[in-house]
Amino acid sequence: MQTRWNGLFTIAGAGFTTRLFLAAWVTTFVAQGQQPFGAESAKKTAAALPSALKSELIALRDAALADDYAYRQVAHLTENIGPRPSGSPQAEQAAQYVGDELRKLGLDVRLEEVKVEHWVRGAETAELAEYPGQAPGTSQKIVVTALGGSTSTPADGITGEVAVVRDFTQLSALGREKVAGKIVLFNFPFDKQKAAAGLEMDAYGEAVVYRGNGAKTAAGLGAIASLIRSVGGADYRLPHTGWSSPAGIPAGAVTAEDADLIAHLAEQGKVRMRLTLTPQKLPDTVGHNVVADLRGSEHPEQFVVVSGHLDSWDLGTGAIDDAAGVAVAMAAAKLVQDLHLRPKRTLRVIAWMDEESGGRGRDAYTAAHLAEFPNHVAAVESDLGAAHPMGFHVKMSQHAVDFLRPVQEILQSFGANSITSTQFAPGADISGMSHEGVPTLGLMQDGRTYFNYHHSAADSLDKIVPLELRENAAAMAVMGYALASTDQPLPR
Ligand SMILES: [Zn+2]
Repeated sequence: MQTRWNGLFTIAGAGFTTRLFLAAWVTTFVAQGQQPFGAESAKKTAAALPSALKSELIALRDAALADDYAYRQVAHLTENIGPRPSGSPQAEQAAQYVGDELRKLGLDVRLEEVKVEHWVRGAETAELAEYPGQAPGTSQKIVVTALGGSTSTPADGITGEVAVVRDFTQLSALGREKVAGKIVLFNFPFDKQKAAAGLEMDAYGEAVVYRGNGAKTAAGLGAIASLIRSVGGADYRLPHTGWSSPAGIPAGAVTAEDADLIAHLAEQGKVRMRLTLTPQKLPDTVGHNVVADLRGSEHPEQFVVVSGHLDSWDLGTGAIDDAAGVAVAMAAAKLVQDLHLRPKRTLRVIAWMDEESGGRGRDAYTAAHLAEFPNHVAAVESDLGAAHPMGFHVKMSQHAVDFLRPVQEILQSFGANSITSTQFAPGADISGMSHEGVPTLGLMQDGRTYFNYHHSAADSLDKIVPLELRENAAAMAVMGYALASTDQPLPR
């Protein structure tokens, strides 16, 4: 497990590692995690919640389901501030904004420094310059976007023959002789049927390895550029970006439609592409994690973290990934304050920086707070969109899972009561804590359409259903407050 964690992390960067873990493990553990929860055990464990706390949780839940605070936060982050890639002025503006809002709520707020890389998108065009059946004097446009971390082509682009492969096995079968000097296209499809069946993490995990490691592998065989079929669940000729391990060659994603076009033509003969991608890596800069405490009344030195990540990709405005997560974490604190509740432990809201392009926010927090992790009772993150929540993915002991049963009862009225164990941390930003033994929880949204928009220009405010976002705020507020307010802390 340890080796696997480190191995994947090194290959892939933080942007999608957690999802890979989930893809690999969730289905295995669902059956074990969702244990029968009969009336008998419900009655027995419900008694474990003091009636005053139970009433507070019900009040929080009902207030959250009627409150649009989270939606207003997503609207501000996406429409007024906009795309928030790591290192950008918008990412910094977002950190300042969230810090100010949480201060207005009466929280003790700190902006903790995170050194981040600053990669900016440039020109991105592609066309097929030569292909079977081509009419003289014509070309075919290809819709492409650069992957995060990509190097640049010369300003007037590169031209090369395209070698189309489905996967790593086919690439290595071609070998250096047939790859060197070419533009490799990994045409690995995102499995839409799996996603439609609720196995979107499996579909994502299977395809995203080509985004993370395709360019590096192709470069190792002498390729001059690497392209992938976009990792996305809907085909409206939109490219999906995302982190790609630096490979020293340009790395991009073409749309699913263009991947099919190139593959069909390449079956018939030689296809040559002109590709221009001119992103730039600017000097590293300083970003911030926002860390905001609502001080506990009895055990202020113990922390329960509720969180989402502030940075987004640059093509859309990062509404579902992940302004929504930040907003529901903010809403948890707002609702507790509205109802004049006081948790026993400190409820710590964190808006993370740099989830998408390296996880330096997680690393900075881990480095700065490691000594406090024995007092981190639990950490929750929402980073799988804003659709209807079905409960939580958790990485914790079975003893801890059992401890949460009375909370599941509170969440049952709107269907967010599932607790599903996973082998790996259910959130990239909380993986540092998980690694050190802190129990972690990730909000488990209905993800069947999440990857239709994820990392594309279509990740925008309109994709959020206000009612569903309120449900997410309710789940975060109830779980966060419960973890911060039980008499005994969540066992490890
Ligand atoms: Zn995210």
